[in-house]
Amino acid sequence: KAGLKKTREEMSNSVHRMLHSFTKIDEELFEELEELLVMGDVGISTSEHICDELRRKVKERGIKDPNAIFDLLQETVSEMLSGGEELKVSTKPSIILVIGVNGVGKTTTIGKMAAYLQNQGKKVILGAADTFRAAAIEQLQVWADRAKCDLIKQSEGSDPAAVVFDTISAAKARGDDVVICDTAGRLHTKKNLMDELAKINRVIDRELPDADKEVLLVLDATTGQNGVNQAREFKNSAGITGIVLTKLDGTAKGGVVLAVREALDIPVKFIGVGEQLDDLQPFNADDFAKALFD
Ligand code: GDP
Repeated sequence: KAGLKKTREEMSNSVHRMLHSFTKIDEELFEELEELLVMGDVGISTSEHICDELRRKVKERGIKDPNAIFDLLQETVSEMLSGGEELKVSTKPSIILVIGVNGVGKTTTIGKMAAYLQNQGKKVILGAADTFRAAAIEQLQVWADRAKCDLIKQSEGSDPAAVVFDTISAAKARGDDVVICDTAGRLHTKKNLMDELAKINRVIDRELPDADKEVLLVLDATTGQNGVNQAREFKNSAGITGIVLTKLDGTAKGGVVLAVREALDIPVKFIGVGEQLDDLQPFNADDFAKALFD
């Protein structure tokens, strides 16, 4: 439950207070609830959807007590977030491509993910395919050292697809279990960025045609609806299989997880809840719903 303290204090408590102030379940209650959800960055259409579900369940089950809405809310949120959360990394090697704009926590997430997988007994190798900035390569080296895994890198400005190729070759030669590749968070134009991702994807599909492949989009939870818009931009061109939502510890608006899931229909696979190596949690819909509405 760590990392959702702020959301719990704000959204969860205000929903509790609101429900307590009602003596019966009526339209006004649903309207107030919808407002609180929107304030928690759940998003307008997602909040509407949740309230529709609640109205339906209240009617179907003949629920009269306003406070019972709280459990229904947990149940509904859990249902909405369920499905496809677990990371697919069974083949040897398997590959995770990590994408997202600069500053969202991509490098940090790669380091945490490497440590998480190594703790599960998997041997991880990293590829520094954000060759656009020298600092990105240096930063990733710092995290590779922390997570105690190897990093394959070339010089700044080299071809990112070539770095991915090298990393896959190294993984095959050494018998690594999981390849994790960083990618550029920004290029001169959006088209350049998408072309580069497409090229990297082609290399992966050629070199590892039968491997488990995850393309994870990293989003910063503190940017709220902006994050949702970023995800929309990446969605079509990059073949995203999962979302990592970072900095949930720094926001009272953890509801953004719901907005992202609803808008994109892509499962959340991990959440970032701090700046340290072990501040990454595999996403579990039920636990998250319980932590969100506690
Ligand atoms: P990148 O540019 O996307 O690679 O972003 P970085 O990995 O360099 O992270 C940017 C900043 O966000 C750094 O100061 C990180 O410490 C911080 N950060 C990343 N993930 C989290 C998180 O889950 N929680 C908090 N509080 N900070 C984070």
